[in-house]
Amino acid sequence: MLPETICLHAGYTPKNGDPAALPIYQSTTFRYDSTENIAKLFDLKDNGFFYSRLGNPTVDAVEQKIAALEGGVGAMCTSSGMAACVGIVLTLAKAGDHIVCSSAVYGGTFNLLAVSLKKIGIETTFIDQSASDEEISSAFRDNTKLFIGETLANPAMDVLDIERLAKIAHQHKVPFVVDNTFATPILCRPGDFGADIVFHATTKYMDGHAIQMGGVVVDIGSFDYAASGKFPDFVEPDESYHGTVYTRDFGKAAFIVKCRVQFMRDYGSCQTAQGAFYINLGLETLPLRIVQHSKNGLEIARMLAEHPKIESISYPALEHDPNHALCLKYLKDGMCSGVMSVVLKGGRAAGAKFIDSVKLCSPEVHVADIRSCVLHPASATHRQLTDAQLEACGIKPGTVRISVGIENIADIKEDILQALAQV
Ligand SMILES: *Cc1c(COP(=O)(O)O)cnc(C)c1O
Repeated sequence: MLPETICLHAGYTPKNGDPAALPIYQSTTFRYDSTENIAKLFDLKDNGFFYSRLGNPTVDAVEQKIAALEGGVGAMCTSSGMAACVGIVLTLAKAGDHIVCSSAVYGGTFNLLAVSLKKIGIETTFIDQSASDEEISSAFRDNTKLFIGETLANPAMDVLDIERLAKIAHQHKVPFVVDNTFATPILCRPGDFGADIVFHATTKYMDGHAIQMGGVVVDIGSFDYAASGKFPDFVEPDESYHGTVYTRDFGKAAFIVKCRVQFMRDYGSCQTAQGAFYINLGLETLPLRIVQHSKNGLEIARMLAEHPKIESISYPALEHDPNHALCLKYLKDGMCSGVMSVVLKGGRAAGAKFIDSVKLCSPEVHVADIRSCVLHPASATHRQLTDAQLEACGIKPGTVRISVGIENIADIKEDILQALAQV
């Protein structure tokens, strides 16, 4: 099936007389006839649901749909995008281990790695993703367990050179992990270019309507944890699961099974059935929305690129953008969503004035919403970062993130122009 069809039909196939729409299985638990049935489920010898923290039919349908969209062997929904990122890290790394991560990642991811995981003994080296192979390679250590990047960096909008960076990760025998939130699998499938694990804040374009928090981890199934030699937890018996050996018992799905039965079992950051239902509703129209966001985004970007009050704009679909070649290589038809990063002349004050002057676009700590919204990172999402850290993330005091919605383009243009007139 092709993406538009997957969005409507994967994960749930109604049989004769079944509900046509995905039902919400609003139940924490599932009934079985015998202890033998239940024992098999607990031993991972049988597929089935027993407790909604570990699996629920509504959530499962969405997981199958997203796995199909990304071309993965399995997926696991989480309560938020941050939980998906934590789940990946804690499935691969423990105290004493090390991560390499692009510095151009979402502020929340940066903080998780730089501060919170450091407190529990997992250290991260941040690299400039445009640095040379040699320079990036030198950040890896014997105890490095994963390399993280973002397809379209939030908010700098740098495009990740997935193929090149995946090769570097693989030379160091670790999986390449890609946050594909802004691109969505409609515009880019990182697994096609060598990424081994993909994750999303489903909170953004997948939901798309700003109604449901969520995340998802997708296992592409391409990384050989046994051959790597760096992941004893994958090849030695897991005594907390009756001696399960993930690589032996689950093959290409070793990572996602381990992520579910260890991380989700113990940390419990699960998606709900109701939440998964909303995400599914969003996914059904994702291909239409992301194309319209991208079309509107390009029109606004072209207008702003010419505007006298704009110092610079990052929107990789623009021909002169330094990321344009990468955009054409990795993103479908060179489309890059509705998100752009704009630097206003006049710094911090100009950024704040613009946010305070828009009428149609809403000032929100959100992005990738069906409605146009605007944000000033230096006074919101990235306010905990120092100026130097801000700079390392590609953000200036006057940077404004604009997330172009799918309103009529004429109305969006008018609003942005009148707000700029007041700056
Ligand atoms: C929002 C976001 C996250 C975090 O997702 P939450 O659902 O807010 O926890 C991670 N990565 C990117 C790129 C995001 O935009």
